Amino acid sequence: MPRQQPTSQASRIQYRRPQASRSRRAPNTAGAARAGYPAQRTRGDWYALRRRRRRNRRLARLGVLAALACVAAAAVFFLLPSVQNLLTPKPEKPTAEVLVAAKAVAAPEESLPIVAIDPGHGGVDRGTEGPGFGEYEMTWRTANDLADLLEADGRFTPYLTITEEESQNPDTARIKPSERAQRAAAQGAQLLLSIHGNSDVSASTSGYECYAIPPGRANHEESLRFAHCLTQGFGALGQRLRGLDGVRYLYYGDNDEKLLYESDDTTVHDDPTFGVLEYAQCPAVLSEQCFLTNSADVDLLADEDGCQRAAQLYYEAICSWFNLEPNQ
Ligand SMILES: [Zn+2]
Repeated sequence: MPRQQPTSQASRIQYRRPQASRSRRAPNTAGAARAGYPAQRTRGDWYALRRRRRRNRRLARLGVLAALACVAAAAVFFLLPSVQNLLTPKPEKPTAEVLVAAKAVAAPEESLPIVAIDPGHGGVDRGTEGPGFGEYEMTWRTANDLADLLEADGRFTPYLTITEEESQNPDTARIKPSERAQRAAAQGAQLLLSIHGNSDVSASTSGYECYAIPPGRANHEESLRFAHCLTQGFGALGQRLRGLDGVRYLYYGDNDEKLLYESDDTTVHDDPTFGVLEYAQCPAVLSEQCFLTNSADVDLLADEDGCQRAAQLYYEAICSWFNLEPNQ
């Protein structure tokens, strides 16, 4: 039996198609001549139209599926990180012990206290001459021996205020005491020891003395404490402590004369003291290691062994000032 063309569909197609065509076309004779076209549609035209409709429906279904796929993909994209966050174990907060340990490991070597050592003379300024080394040589050797001890100790960073050239080359300009103190301050020194050798017109004069930052000035108390650490060591060695207890204050008077005061004098004087103490930005002491004009002093503290011996005493005094036990 031949397939019947559904009249209802045919009539719907006949109604819609011409309207759409007419609305899109320009009013010309060709358009007017095609006005009766749907009524004359053939069976082949109808099948072609049906195929197009099926294809359109398939395309529409594909479009819907594609849209659903996009929504699903977006959901996965946005929700997956949250799900992963939920599933991934969060790193534990570091405990106090862990933080302390990390800090200890990360502590840089620069955090070690800087101890400035000033070899009190050098260059054209040779200092006192005597039977042993000259003052520039004695202070240079002692300062280097002390720096070696501090370095070997591992808890300090030693700093020498002058270079070997500035110490040993007799043609090098004198480095002023104030500049030495400023160099130490520029390094951030926490303690400054200026090493000197004493002298006297009398070869029998001997003993140990050192000079602290005078009363009424910044760092006086800690300077005085360091001075007493030094006299304790040199006194224990058998050196006579000069004056009251080996610790003194010195001022330059109006005519540059030296004015000496013992450590129990708490009077505040405006007169300047030694330049290296005057310009120090930390506790500082000027140490007169021994009398270079006295042979017994030189034998004890100013020859090669003597410089090493003095360096050991300075090292122990520095440890004592930092409240540390010496390990060298
Ligand atoms: Zn000197």
